[in-house]
Amino acid sequence: MTEIRTVLTGLDLLAPATGGDCDEFDPAIERAVRAFQQSRGLSVDGRVGAETWRALDQARWRLGARTLFHAVPEPLTGEDVRSLQERLLEMGYDVGRADAVYGVRTSRAVAQFQREVGLKPDGSCGPYTMGALRRLGRKVVGGRPQWLRESDAIRQSGPTLVGRTVVIDPGHGGTDPGQVVPDGPLRWTEADLMHDLASRLEGRLAASGVRVQLTRGPAPPTCLPDADRAELANSLGADVFISLHTDGHANPAAEGVATYHYGTTDNGVTSATGERLAGLVQREIVARTGLRDCRTHAKTWDLLRLTRMPAVRVEVGYLTSPADRARLVDPRFRDRVAEAIVAAVQRMYLPDERDVPTGSIDVSELRAVVTAGTVVD
Ligand SMILES: [Zn+2]
Repeated sequence: MTEIRTVLTGLDLLAPATGGDCDEFDPAIERAVRAFQQSRGLSVDGRVGAETWRALDQARWRLGARTLFHAVPEPLTGEDVRSLQERLLEMGYDVGRADAVYGVRTSRAVAQFQREVGLKPDGSCGPYTMGALRRLGRKVVGGRPQWLRESDAIRQSGPTLVGRTVVIDPGHGGTDPGQVVPDGPLRWTEADLMHDLASRLEGRLAASGVRVQLTRGPAPPTCLPDADRAELANSLGADVFISLHTDGHANPAAEGVATYHYGTTDNGVTSATGERLAGLVQREIVARTGLRDCRTHAKTWDLLRLTRMPAVRVEVGYLTSPADRARLVDPRFRDRVAEAIVAAVQRMYLPDERDVPTGSIDVSELRAVVTAGTVVD
């Protein structure tokens, strides 16, 4: 009886005993047993039979108290397995459902975690793996260690842009013009405007020593699917991926710039570097253009999910907004947007202590520094 009480208290289903007689099978315990049975999918009768006892016994295990591994044919089960699965899910690993059973899928997720933190990927969770989970537990805020290492790698690779590869992705193209807005005798299309912006960005990045590749030309025969654009960036081993779009809405009052990075909103899994780049792009554009700030957002779109480098998609204003359109059709505005994005990419490679205020990087000066460097080389 005391054991049952201890387990139920440990699961937060029962308030801790306040002394006195605690061996009585009181209504509080029965309620707790019912709640426990419900949470484990057992038949709910409030009594501790053989099946419920077995489940309670498994529920005693605290993560770290024993080594967990994929046992065949009888898999390990227990509350510690569930805690481990929940922890892995939080960090973005695929364990399926947190069902408290240490099956193949959990074992595979553990092996992947081990590989990413530099441990032997044997798929079992012993003291070293537990240690890594604990250490990261304090640091990881919804991000996989792979992504954390990615940010470390970026900071350690130094501030120079020379030799980096940036893939610029002007949205739509071919038979898909994206947003289209007639304007007197003219017709503005998202596909054309974003290709022009991409070319301006390409020129500035190339002047800073960056290798630049566009995902499409000005008039491609067809519109490349997003998955193919991501694959192109992967095959080029790109360091950064930037997709350019404009937004559109039936309400002409909708306006502003928004930047998207990979992530899920329900469990906070996010690409740390993608999110950082998105924040920089968004702030630089808002500071340099005065576009309304529609903030950054996490999305799981193919383009962001399949790219294996920091990737963002910028919606540079609403082509359907008269105010935003007046800006977008002005080549000087597109120059400023291009400069904002170059400044953001540069800042991503600056260590924290060398980061600079938003809007302060003079992109033409950046070019001069790079040119000087090239001469010395
Ligand atoms: Zn678009």
